[in-house]
Amino acid sequence: MIETIRDYARIDPALAGEGGIAANVIDAMAQTRRHLFVPKNRASLAYADRPLPIGHGQTISQPYIVALMTHLVRLPENATVLEIGTGSGYQAAILARIASKVCTIEIIPELGERARATLKGLGYDNVDIRIGDGYQGWPECGPFDAVVVTAALGHVPPKLVEQLKEEGRLVMPVGSPSGIQRLTVIEKSAAGKTTTREAGRVRFVPFTRSGD
Ligand code: SAH
Repeated sequence: MIETIRDYARIDPALAGEGGIAANVIDAMAQTRRHLFVPKNRASLAYADRPLPIGHGQTISQPYIVALMTHLVRLPENATVLEIGTGSGYQAAILARIASKVCTIEIIPELGERARATLKGLGYDNVDIRIGDGYQGWPECGPFDAVVVTAALGHVPPKLVEQLKEEGRLVMPVGSPSGIQRLTVIEKSAAGKTTTREAGRVRFVPFTRSGD
């Protein structure tokens, strides 16, 4: 799995940059046992570079995309990170190996509770999981050095950008929730100005709203 991630990053240096995926991200991926985050009957596929169903119509993301998104937010030392879309808890676990604190929101209660149990069982004590709609972010947990959104929407929720620190980064699939999305990276400058760029095409499950 780790080799595949390195190969992808080499094939498309425009996405991850010339140096490929950062070493701390590769280390976090290598140290995290993905089979513990997927249903038992899928465990044999856990190290293939593909998304897998986790129940409730949701998926655990493809490992390469988890690595790329973690790389793109370039976490500084002692980072506080917000994730929207906890799902299995796998992306949160990768972030938690690099950051000081991860706050993650999941809209499907059963998934949020299962992820909470998985992460607790593995001894992660720097991940806070909230059950609810992540559209408004989590200001009490922030401000954030990075925001990682793992569900697709046609626009970036403004509050998520608001809760980013200066020099913080947000990564999110933006586009049609039923099609292909642009993996979008927003950087906030020291002056609070934002710049946006695209880092390839991806396919994520929809970002739903509590009223849906
Ligand atoms: N990061 C996850 C991937 C989960 S797929 C992992 O590593 O396994 C995306 C998740 O986003 C799904 O679990 C879905 O229920 C959740 N989601 C969708 N809309 C949401 C919203 N508005 N707020 C919080 N979570 C949401």
